[in-house]
Amino acid sequence: MAPVDKSDLDMNVTHTFKCGVCNENESKYKCPVCLVRYCSVACYKTHKAGDSCKKPEPVVEVKPKVDVYEYETEDTVNPEKLQTLGYDFDIRRDLENQHLRQLLTQLNSSTNPDEFIKENMNEPIFSEFVLHCLAVVDEEEDE
Ligand SMILES: [Zn+2]
Ligand SMILES: [Zn+2]
Repeated sequence: MAPVDKSDLDMNVTHTFKCGVCNENESKYKCPVCLVRYCSVACYKTHKAGDSCKKPEPVVEVKPKVDVYEYETEDTVNPEKLQTLGYDFDIRRDLENQHLRQLLTQLNSSTNPDEFIKENMNEPIFSEFVLHCLAVVDEEEDE
Protein backbone atom coordinates (compact mmCIF):
# COMPACT_ATOMS: atom_id res chain seq x y z
CA MET A 1 0.00 0.00 0.00
CA ALA A 2 1.41 3.37 -1.04
CA PRO A 3 1.98 5.79 1.77
CA VAL A 4 -0.53 8.62 1.85
CA ASP A 5 0.89 11.87 0.59
CA LYS A 6 0.22 14.50 3.17
CA SER A 7 0.14 17.38 0.76
CA ASP A 8 -2.68 15.67 -1.12
CA LEU A 9 -4.74 15.57 2.07
CA ASP A 10 -4.21 19.27 2.60
CA MET A 11 -5.46 19.96 -0.92
CA ASN A 12 -8.63 18.04 -0.15
CA VAL A 13 -9.58 20.33 2.70
CA THR A 14 -12.53 22.23 1.34
CA HIS A 15 -13.49 24.17 4.43
CA THR A 16 -11.10 26.91 5.32
CA PHE A 17 -11.74 29.58 7.87
CA LYS A 18 -10.63 33.12 7.54
CA CYS A 19 -8.72 34.81 10.29
CA GLY A 20 -11.17 36.29 12.76
CA VAL A 21 -8.85 39.23 13.38
CA CYS A 22 -7.78 40.52 9.99
CA ASN A 23 -10.51 38.72 8.01
CA GLU A 24 -8.10 38.24 5.12
CA ASN A 25 -5.77 35.33 5.60
CA GLU A 26 -6.64 31.72 6.14
CA SER A 27 -6.66 30.96 9.83
CA LYS A 28 -4.28 28.35 11.10
CA TYR A 29 -4.67 28.67 14.84
CA LYS A 30 -7.33 28.99 17.48
CA CYS A 31 -7.24 31.19 20.54
CA PRO A 32 -7.16 28.80 23.50
CA VAL A 33 -9.39 31.12 25.51
CA CYS A 34 -12.22 32.22 23.22
CA LEU A 35 -11.54 29.86 20.29
CA VAL A 36 -11.42 32.71 17.78
CA ARG A 37 -9.43 31.76 14.66
CA TYR A 38 -6.36 33.69 13.72
CA CYS A 39 -3.70 33.48 11.05
CA SER A 40 -0.52 34.70 12.65
CA VAL A 41 1.19 35.80 15.79
CA ALA A 42 0.62 39.39 14.77
CA CYS A 43 -3.12 38.86 14.56
CA TYR A 44 -3.10 36.92 17.82
CA LYS A 45 -1.40 39.85 19.53
CA THR A 46 -3.94 42.27 18.05
CA HIS A 47 -6.71 39.98 19.26
CA LYS A 48 -5.25 39.76 22.78
CA ALA A 49 -4.78 43.53 22.94
CA GLY A 50 -8.47 44.09 22.31
CA ASP A 51 -11.24 43.26 24.76
CA SER A 52 -12.98 40.69 22.56
CA CYS A 53 -11.07 37.77 24.07
CA LYS A 54 -13.29 36.50 26.82
CA LYS A 55 -14.13 33.11 28.12
CA PRO A 56 -17.80 32.32 27.67
CA GLU A 57 -19.60 33.29 30.89
CA PRO A 58 -20.56 30.23 32.90
CA VAL A 59 -24.24 30.03 33.60
CA VAL A 60 -24.76 30.93 37.22
CA GLU A 61 -27.65 29.28 38.95
CA VAL A 62 -29.61 31.86 40.87
CA LYS A 63 -31.01 30.40 44.03
CA PRO A 64 -34.06 32.00 45.61
CA LYS A 65 -33.30 33.78 48.85
CA VAL A 66 -34.38 31.84 51.89
CA ASP A 67 -36.13 33.87 54.53
CA VAL A 68 -34.25 33.45 57.77
CA TYR A 69 -35.49 34.81 61.04
CA GLU A 70 -32.78 37.15 62.18
CA TYR A 71 -32.42 37.89 65.84
CA GLU A 72 -32.36 41.59 66.51
CA THR A 73 -30.28 41.27 69.62
CA GLU A 74 -28.72 38.46 71.61
CA ASP A 75 -31.42 38.93 74.20
CA THR A 76 -34.22 38.33 71.74
CA VAL A 77 -36.12 35.28 72.80
CA ASN A 78 -36.70 32.61 70.21
CA PRO A 79 -40.34 32.84 69.03
CA GLU A 80 -40.75 29.13 69.69
CA LYS A 81 -39.78 29.67 73.29
CA LEU A 82 -42.27 32.49 73.60
CA GLN A 83 -44.91 30.06 72.37
CA THR A 84 -44.17 27.73 75.26
CA LEU A 85 -44.94 30.58 77.66
CA GLY A 86 -48.59 30.23 76.71
CA TYR A 87 -48.64 26.63 77.91
CA ASP A 88 -47.12 27.29 81.30
CA PHE A 89 -49.63 26.76 84.10
CA ASP A 90 -48.40 29.65 86.28
CA ILE A 91 -48.49 32.08 83.37
CA ARG A 92 -51.96 31.03 82.33
CA ARG A 93 -53.19 31.55 85.87
CA ASP A 94 -51.49 34.96 85.97
CA LEU A 95 -53.19 35.93 82.73
CA GLU A 96 -56.59 35.34 84.27
CA ASN A 97 -55.97 38.45 86.35
CA GLN A 98 -57.66 41.45 84.75
CA HIS A 99 -55.20 43.89 86.25
CA LEU A 100 -52.24 42.02 84.79
CA ARG A 101 -53.89 41.88 81.38
CA GLN A 102 -54.37 45.61 81.51
CA LEU A 103 -50.72 46.11 82.38
CA LEU A 104 -49.66 43.84 79.52
CA THR A 105 -51.85 45.77 77.09
CA GLN A 106 -50.15 48.95 78.22
CA LEU A 107 -46.77 47.27 77.90
CA ASN A 108 -47.62 46.23 74.35
CA SER A 109 -48.37 49.79 73.31
CA SER A 110 -45.57 51.28 75.38
CA THR A 111 -42.85 53.15 73.52
CA ASN A 112 -40.37 52.19 76.22
CA PRO A 113 -41.17 48.64 77.37
CA ASP A 114 -38.00 48.32 79.46
CA GLU A 115 -38.93 51.39 81.46
CA PHE A 116 -42.51 50.21 81.77
CA ILE A 117 -41.42 46.88 83.22
CA LYS A 118 -39.13 48.61 85.73
CA GLU A 119 -41.91 50.94 86.84
CA ASN A 120 -44.35 48.10 87.33
CA MET A 121 -42.09 45.61 89.07
CA ASN A 122 -43.56 46.78 92.39
CA GLU A 123 -46.94 45.48 91.24
CA PRO A 124 -46.95 41.98 92.78
CA ILE A 125 -49.00 40.41 90.02
CA PHE A 126 -46.74 41.91 87.37
CA SER A 127 -43.42 41.01 88.99
CA GLU A 128 -44.69 37.50 89.58
CA PHE A 129 -45.72 37.20 85.96
CA VAL A 130 -42.27 38.41 84.79
CA LEU A 131 -40.60 35.86 87.07
CA HIS A 132 -42.78 33.08 85.69
CA CYS A 133 -41.88 34.10 82.15
CA LEU A 134 -38.17 34.18 82.96
CA ALA A 135 -38.41 30.79 84.65
CA VAL A 136 -39.88 29.24 81.52
CA VAL A 137 -37.32 30.86 79.21
CA ASP A 138 -34.40 29.83 81.45
CA GLU A 139 -35.74 26.31 81.70
CA GLU A 140 -35.84 26.05 77.92
CA GLU A 141 -32.32 27.43 77.51
CA ASP A 142 -30.84 24.86 79.90
CA GLU A 143 -31.79 22.04 77.59
ZN1 LIG B 1 -5.10 37.55 10.64
ZN1 LIG C 1 -9.11 34.95 22.39
